[in-house]
Amino acid sequence: MPSNPIRSASRAISPLASSLVRPTCPHPCRTFISPCSSLHNARPWPGSARKSAIQVQRRRMSTSNLSRKHPVDFIPPTATDLFDLRASVQEFCKRNIPEEVAAAADGTNSFPADMWHKLGDAGLLGITASAAQGGLDMGYEAHTIVMEEISRASGSIGLSYAAHSQLCVNQVSLNGNQQQKEKYLPSLLSGRMIGALAMSETGAGSDVVSMKMKAEEVDGGYRLNGSKMWITNGPDADLIVVYAKTAPPPTQPSKGVTAFLVETKSASGFSVARKLDKLGMRGSNTGELHFEDVFVPKENVLGQLNKGVRVLMEGLDLERLVLSAGPLGLMRRALDEALPYVHTRQQFGVALAKNQLVQGKLADMYTAYRAASAFTHEVARTIDAAHNSPETNFGIESRDCTSTILFAAEQATKVCLDAVQLLGGMGYMSEVPVGRLVRDAKLYEIGAGTSEIRRVVVGRSFEKEFS
Ligand SMILES: Cc1cc2nc3c(=O)[nH]c(=O)nc-3n(C[C@H](O)[C@H](O)[C@H](O)COP(=O)(O)OP(=O)(O)OC[C@H]3O[C@@H](n4cnc5c(N)ncnc54)[C@H](O)[C@@H]3O)c2cc1C
Repeated sequence: MPSNPIRSASRAISPLASSLVRPTCPHPCRTFISPCSSLHNARPWPGSARKSAIQVQRRRMSTSNLSRKHPVDFIPPTATDLFDLRASVQEFCKRNIPEEVAAAADGTNSFPADMWHKLGDAGLLGITASAAQGGLDMGYEAHTIVMEEISRASGSIGLSYAAHSQLCVNQVSLNGNQQQKEKYLPSLLSGRMIGALAMSETGAGSDVVSMKMKAEEVDGGYRLNGSKMWITNGPDADLIVVYAKTAPPPTQPSKGVTAFLVETKSASGFSVARKLDKLGMRGSNTGELHFEDVFVPKENVLGQLNKGVRVLMEGLDLERLVLSAGPLGLMRRALDEALPYVHTRQQFGVALAKNQLVQGKLADMYTAYRAASAFTHEVARTIDAAHNSPETNFGIESRDCTSTILFAAEQATKVCLDAVQLLGGMGYMSEVPVGRLVRDAKLYEIGAGTSEIRRVVVGRSFEKEFS
């Protein structure tokens, strides 16, 4: 395997050197405070202690069913590894995603196709994939860092990047068998193949398990019929993780879903019905996809037959976590644009930033970014630290993964709107990027489950615990 500059830079630091950087919590979360105030072990509500204990007990009893969320050789990256990774990605973005590239992607409503090879050559397409397949095997906190920095340069490129590296690559890494991983991961990681994930349909968005796409068993495999809507990378994808009904029992629709790996270029009956025109994220290609008697060999079933909802839901937790770094990147960019502007432009004889109302807005923007960033990193770090702990469901709390994106997405829309306001008339002009940031940010309140559905998920998790 050729050595990868990003991996080498971020893994070359000795554990001793990294432990000297900042004091960390003794808890496996390795939060940079001592001790951490996270919810991992200590629940803040004493009344639920017994119930929590019972739940942990139940969880332990069912851990045999749980599958790992990291490759077996995974070692959580050190703070220095992550610092170096961020610096490398910033350098990558400076060279490959300058503002002209981001603006052109938005203006032409199309993803810059050569970006896939550049991302692949830099090793960025397999942050969570195993080193055996050519991945960096650096885990989810690292993936949020890469996602944030790419989204800071271009929200659209960030979204397409995550659809490939998280929704497709990570799903294949976690749920694929050895043959599937060997067949697809090297091409996906190099950027020769573009990945996507298709669950939503025109009639099944928030209520995604009510999907109508059917997969009927035939000799040697399955025949897929139906359509998928709003699929990121759909118009370009070579490999799509497609969810379809294999055995829909009338009373339990969630039980009969299976995930399939569909190779689009060789699949007769597959077509891109249309490439969609969008409000924002215009540099990320989105499509409506049709499947008419598309044959998928049985070796392309991803995970277990009729257990696709588990693949889908477990994938959704990690997807929400990694996608929450998209809004982080957009908030960071809003600050990048607003801060120099308000300190340079003068009105009433002084810089705009001399006004306390302007300072207050900057403070709110910065606080929102820092709070969302701390939350996302803490949840990601917990999951990375629990890579060997099936008794804690490998550190995954749906509630936390969902809350990270709920919070980050809504903050990003506000922060990007504040940036428009701070730039005044200029903020409303297409020649500066802040308007694009607002349009891009709004997507994160809709994609991967809307804000309302996220509130339902978080609210229901308490209902389960307390009632
Ligand atoms: C740019 C873009 C990219 C996307 N990429 C992908 C992709 O790659 N793969 C994929 O599978 N899907 C993708 N999606 C689809 C996305 O996940 C869905 O759009 C999303 O889940 C919402 O579903 P919907 O559009 O059908 O809205 P609906 O479910 O029709 O909801 C409409 C409104 O009603 C509200 N609502 C619905 N149910 C409730 C409820 N029970 N309580 C309160 N409010 C409710 C919603 O919050 C929303 O405000 C993408 C969407 C977009 C816009």
